Amino acid sequence: MLLTDKFGRPITDLRISITDHCNYKCVYCRTGNEGALYGDLPFSDYLRMARIFAALGIKKVRLTGGEPLLRRGVVDFVRELSMLRSADGEPLELALTTNGHLLAETARPLKNAGLDRVTVSMDAVDPVRFARITRVPNGYDNVLAGIRAAKRAGLDPVKVNCVLLRGFNEDQIIPFGMFAREEGVVLRFIEFMPLEEDRVWSPAVVVALDEILERMAEYRPLVEIPHQRSETARRYRFDDGIGEIGIIAPVSHPFCGHCSRVRITSDGKIRTCLFSVWDHDLHAQMRRGASDAALEDFIRGVILHKEERHHIGEPDFVPASRTMVHIGG
Ligand code: SAM
Repeated sequence: MLLTDKFGRPITDLRISITDHCNYKCVYCRTGNEGALYGDLPFSDYLRMARIFAALGIKKVRLTGGEPLLRRGVVDFVRELSMLRSADGEPLELALTTNGHLLAETARPLKNAGLDRVTVSMDAVDPVRFARITRVPNGYDNVLAGIRAAKRAGLDPVKVNCVLLRGFNEDQIIPFGMFAREEGVVLRFIEFMPLEEDRVWSPAVVVALDEILERMAEYRPLVEIPHQRSETARRYRFDDGIGEIGIIAPVSHPFCGHCSRVRITSDGKIRTCLFSVWDHDLHAQMRRGASDAALEDFIRGVILHKEERHHIGEPDFVPASRTMVHIGG
């Protein structure tokens, strides 16, 4: 029996945070004062978890963090993941989300090890603004070099994620549209969610899907292209066919009904929703010597109780028990 929750959603997409450390302190994500809060596990433990999840129906594994490229041994870990097979006997689809700071030197080895795709987070296409957002000087050039190296290495399509905050970087919408066309990357705008360390979120700060589309249309018209139901992004192409942008709109257009994701935190806890108020200690089961079959039962039981939806913006909203950087986005 493959993994399905009690609402009938098949769970096919696993995200593993391999470190709680990050070398950027993005203003919408971190306070800038706190470092890692949670530990991490030997790669062999994540590998065992991934193997068991794959046997239960996971088809896609995304490595994240913290910043996953800070973790030494990540290339070898990707190589080991590439040898796993899904329940259908197929190789897993392997992806990585990174801030791109260390990608220029790792893109080719990652591709050679079996990584299929990479998503790079980048919230401004101007070096000064980029430094203000990340609180790191001179990061922009590294990230741009990382994006280009990923393209050359064939980690296609390279996706660039941008979180927009009103009053901070919403003037970057059109420059990002130009960037997508010039660099040949798929751009994804993500609506800001209340998952930050500093509790600065309010509905007024969110730049929502409709507004992004309106702004971009001032530059060039966009045409919507079909997307799969379980895909998080609504996808658009510019009218001349050059350049794709996507909008991930969990706040204004929630897609929880089609959610296929489950996450493992760096310290080995399962989270069934970004907004979970508790997590489930898979690693504790492993430490106690649980067999693969016992771990499968544990995972099935956890998935069954996956949350139906998030409650962002509702009076009964309860903040998640961890912020984004400590979950793994
Ligand atoms: N360090 C890696 C990176 O920068 O991509 C991986 C971890 S980071 C937490 C994953 C993604 O979450 C990034 O694209 C980041 O922009 C996004 N993110 C962080 N906080 C967010 C929030 N409150 N709302 C929406 N996206 C957020």
